[in-house]
Amino acid sequence: MAQIIIKNLRKDFGNFTAVKSSSFTIEDGEFFMLLGPSGCGKTTTLRMIAGLELPTSGEIYIDGEEVSQKRASQRDIAFVFQMFALYPHMNVRQNISYPLKSQGMPKAKVKERVAKVAKILGIEDILNKPVGGLSGGDRQRIALGRAIVREPKAFMMDEPLGALDAEFREHMSAELRALHDRMGATTVYVTHDQLEAMQMGDKIVVMNHGSVEQFGVPQDIYDWPATMFVATFIGSPSMNFLRFNGTVGIGDTSVELDGHVFEVPSQLEGCKGEIAFGVRPEHVTLDPEEGYSGKVIAIEYLGTSQIVTLETPNGTLKARIASTQEVVVGEMAGISFNPKTVTLFNNETGVALLSVNNKGVLSDG
Ligand code: ATP
Repeated sequence: MAQIIIKNLRKDFGNFTAVKSSSFTIEDGEFFMLLGPSGCGKTTTLRMIAGLELPTSGEIYIDGEEVSQKRASQRDIAFVFQMFALYPHMNVRQNISYPLKSQGMPKAKVKERVAKVAKILGIEDILNKPVGGLSGGDRQRIALGRAIVREPKAFMMDEPLGALDAEFREHMSAELRALHDRMGATTVYVTHDQLEAMQMGDKIVVMNHGSVEQFGVPQDIYDWPATMFVATFIGSPSMNFLRFNGTVGIGDTSVELDGHVFEVPSQLEGCKGEIAFGVRPEHVTLDPEEGYSGKVIAIEYLGTSQIVTLETPNGTLKARIASTQEVVVGEMAGISFNPKTVTLFNNETGVALLSVNNKGVLSDG
């Protein structure tokens, strides 16, 4: 079990900077997600924490001890890769006990540890089977068992479920999360799948082009994205941005779109110029045409809901509404928003005018 502190971590490969000055803290026992698109530096960050890659600069602390330049073998961290390679000529028990035997642990102690792990994973009945004929799920469990059996300070997992089909992946992600809750070991998990990160993580770091865009609990990241990148990357369909020119000053509680005034949470930072009015599709309401409106250009029926795409004076907008509500392609629809869910962004820098720490205040009255 371990707390991991990352301070100004940077990694250069020649002239290319893969990770730029990242800082965040992973608390003891957390299930921590490193999330972002391909090439954003997630794996490089994970490998630096594990000691498989040394940072160009910055610091890593595990339980208060600086390990930045220490080898992987000196950090007591287990790494679980996407492709779970098992030893095909060994049975399940031999596969799981291998890391302990190679450490020279006494036989009785190995037996005890393997029995404990088999119980945690529910694989006691297959311990003496060859790994060859086992299902994908059992193979995943054995690979996890091989990491758990060492009782390391923390687990690093690099898209461990990436190669699985959707249904099985969902099953295994629930199992992995339940396993974590039983063991309470600090786990750092790399994924490019925002849904997986939201479902499994206690905390998420969202990375883009080597930088940390936001760090926090899933709900804050969803409700209060720090940047337009985060707002787009998290959520499906992603957040809408309606662009307008204007000035948002300290304490403003309304903005004007196409001559219509909308209430917004009080914006704490001043901003002049092009502003993006951010609202998630599920927070858009379509009314009979009056006030601010848009033309319906597409409808995607999803069973319990429907996604309606509209052309507004400020750009394209998607609304997720009940599938029972009648809307017609080609017709106009009135548009309104729940003001508490609106986030304004500086459209040039992409940065939110309101941060999660300064959630805008709109009274309920
Ligand atoms: P993916 O999910 O595709 O693996 P990622 O977010 O994990 O993406 P990294 O694997 O950390 O990304 O790679 C970040 C960037 O660093 C990529 O552009 C990659 O090509 C580059 N990179 C990674 N390792 C090396 C290396 N050893 N030498 C040179 N460039 C590298």
